[in-house]
Amino acid sequence: MTFAGHCFRCGAALSAAPPCACGSCGYEHYLNARPTVSLIILDGAGRFLALRRARAPRAGLWETPGGFCDGWEEPADAARREAREELGVDIELGDFVGMYLGGYEFQGELLPVLDCFFFATLPAGAQLLVDAVEASEHTWFPLADPPPMAFETMDRALRDAVVRAG
Ligand SMILES: [Zn+2]
Repeated sequence: MTFAGHCFRCGAALSAAPPCACGSCGYEHYLNARPTVSLIILDGAGRFLALRRARAPRAGLWETPGGFCDGWEEPADAARREAREELGVDIELGDFVGMYLGGYEFQGELLPVLDCFFFATLPAGAQLLVDAVEASEHTWFPLADPPPMAFETMDRALRDAVVRAG
């Protein structure tokens, strides 16, 4: 397979996949995993919150709430923002679970993503207002017995979370 990318700076075709320097202007190209945040929200009874994805990719499958970090946004801030946007709540952010490298299909490309997982809880009496654009339904699954998740990084993080939540 030939690499079809072009230089960001001068537009010349790149002869190789990053990391490489543009043969025309010398600009150095790198491909780095993009950070995302994902929330393992626990209910205090050994269950975590899952959303059923309403959008591609992987529509119809279960996921933990979250999304991409914006350019200069701290991951913890992105985690709180995503909870407000997707769930309509101010979560209480807990311990960091870990980072996992995964793939995300977007605009016809498979991008490397670095998924950062945090534990979280809901404030007492919180009412979820799940964004219907993002999720068609939500439910609570046993942390020790999760369903297959939309992304493999979620499966891995949930396995580690069981140990951490001990
Ligand atoms: Zn160039």
